[in-house]
Amino acid sequence: MGPPGAGKGTQAQVVADRFEIPAISTGDIFRSNVSLGTELGVEAKRYMDAGEYVPDSVTNLMVRHRIDEPDAEKGFLLDGYPRTLAQVDELDGMIKHTGHRLDAVVVLTVDPDELVRRLTARAQSEGRSDDTEDVIRRRQEVYTEQTEPLIEVYRDRGILIEIDGMGDMAEVSQRIFDALGSGG
Ligand code: ADP
Repeated sequence: MGPPGAGKGTQAQVVADRFEIPAISTGDIFRSNVSLGTELGVEAKRYMDAGEYVPDSVTNLMVRHRIDEPDAEKGFLLDGYPRTLAQVDELDGMIKHTGHRLDAVVVLTVDPDELVRRLTARAQSEGRSDDTEDVIRRRQEVYTEQTEPLIEVYRDRGILIEIDGMGDMAEVSQRIFDALGSGG
């Protein structure tokens, strides 16, 4: 977890590689559907371009199917899911059915100024259609309103790991590995 620009996608890939499990990024799945022009992509794009969350019903079903794929049998890392309280419940139900359990929830914390700086830089290099100033602001708001409350839920369950997301990518990865007890 972490606000837009916290480095979730980057770190998710590094951690998943270390644990030899797939990194499942809902944002990436939506974006690939958008480029393929699928029905899901057309639906998702409307929300993404406005900085809003795609409706839970759409997102939940997509994740449910993805974690049923054979490569996720031995475990998986979710990047960008759950993002709402309803998605938390849904995920609990899904993993009860697959026999998995949630080992840890990693939240990356980054100063607000640094978030804006990173997203502006990404807008120039990658040209993501949701990295414009207004949309960036809206995504931050939506995160605060809908996703930040999840931090308390996972803290209460005793599985929350808070990581300082400032500094270079390798340093942040090392902090995550140390916290997850996977050495260096
Ligand atoms: P970021 O966190 O940097 O905004 P993501 O790539 O994780 O970027 O997500 C991009 C967009 O995809 C979100 O703004 C939202 O519209 C949609 N999305 C991703 N994950 C979810 C989710 N779990 N629930 C609803 N919408 C989602």
